[in-house]
Amino acid sequence: MNFNLTSPSSMSSSEMDSDQETVQVLILGSGPAGLSAALYCARANLDPVVLSGLELGGQVSLTYVVENYPGFPDGIGGLEMVELFQKQAEKFGARVEIDTATEVDLSKHPIRVKTQNGKLYLADTLIISTGASARHLEVPGENEFTGRGVSYCATCDGWFFKKKDVVVVGGGDSALEEGIFLTRYADSVTIVHRRDELRAGPMLEERAKSNPKVSFLWNTVVTKITGNGSVDGIELQDTESGELRNLPIEGVFIFIGHFPNSDLFKGQLELDEKGYIKVDHRMRTNIPGVFAAGEVADPHFRQVVTSAGMGAAAAMQAGHFLDENIGYSN
Ligand SMILES: Cc1cc2nc3c(=O)[nH]c(=O)nc-3n(C[C@H](O)[C@H](O)[C@H](O)COP(=O)(O)OP(=O)(O)OC[C@H]3O[C@@H](n4cnc5c(N)ncnc54)[C@H](O)[C@@H]3O)c2cc1C
Repeated sequence: MNFNLTSPSSMSSSEMDSDQETVQVLILGSGPAGLSAALYCARANLDPVVLSGLELGGQVSLTYVVENYPGFPDGIGGLEMVELFQKQAEKFGARVEIDTATEVDLSKHPIRVKTQNGKLYLADTLIISTGASARHLEVPGENEFTGRGVSYCATCDGWFFKKKDVVVVGGGDSALEEGIFLTRYADSVTIVHRRDELRAGPMLEERAKSNPKVSFLWNTVVTKITGNGSVDGIELQDTESGELRNLPIEGVFIFIGHFPNSDLFKGQLELDEKGYIKVDHRMRTNIPGVFAAGEVADPHFRQVVTSAGMGAAAAMQAGHFLDENIGYSN
């Protein structure tokens, strides 16, 4: 493949237009993977540009506390953590733009990325770290009452449910962590899980089960969310008997998993059957110069520490790619 890589000094006058910019490394996403990639690229003098996407800081910015990232024995607030990630990357020269990629053309070099703000980036290398988004229940009432009793973020919305009764849907780590967090505000938290055992780790399970405000509804699914302006109840179905019943409730917090934000790359990059971008152990996609890191390429580990590690690896590999194909990384 012939890489027609650009360098800043070779920009044509049309490429100097304010709505067009040539970069060595463009990073899509400002979560742990994107900001770690930015830190490593910046320290390698690759002048990375990060497009934040709609969620500056990524999923972890919505998390109340992170207790499993090394170096913080007392835990650290999710938002505070990604602010530090950003500060550290910017200190070495990374630039974070509040903008979202809306179109990519990976068929030639430089790679072309159009954004919501109407900018066109011509990138020698691309690091995709667009992460994952919360899965929806897909039941009647869910969309209608999102933000009016239905939430996907306890840290963001828990405060609104002071002295109220809420349900948490799900049985994994997020469901339990967020459920325990909600007991700070809510009078009661009922965890609705479709199976008879949790997917969450044993420590979290123990903590949830010993919390007097937390109770469990096993083998149960939510089939409808009802309300009048805001949520006033849910319809539940017993997965064994099929029996339906209503539960009056004011808040429904949904933590049933995530899907990768990879739609933008469909038809251009190899994805697995669930839509995760396929990468090798060096974070390389099937297209030279295009790397992916973090949850968009990781259906298994899905942690801050693993996403950050993948971001660092992708950045180092982007540096090697530039060295080998252009020889001008400073
Ligand atoms: C409620 C909750 C609690 C959690 N608790 C923990 C915990 O305690 N410990 C732990 O290790 N992990 C935890 N996690 C998981 C952790 O947050 C994720 O593993 C991590 O954030 C993934 O990082 P990422 O950079 O791959 O993606 P994300 O954090 O998902 O970030 C993706 C980024 O891509 C951006 N983006 C998306 N589309 C575009 C686009 N088109 N153009 C530009 N940018 C785009 C988004 O705006 C965002 O900035 C938790 C997750 C949740 C939801």
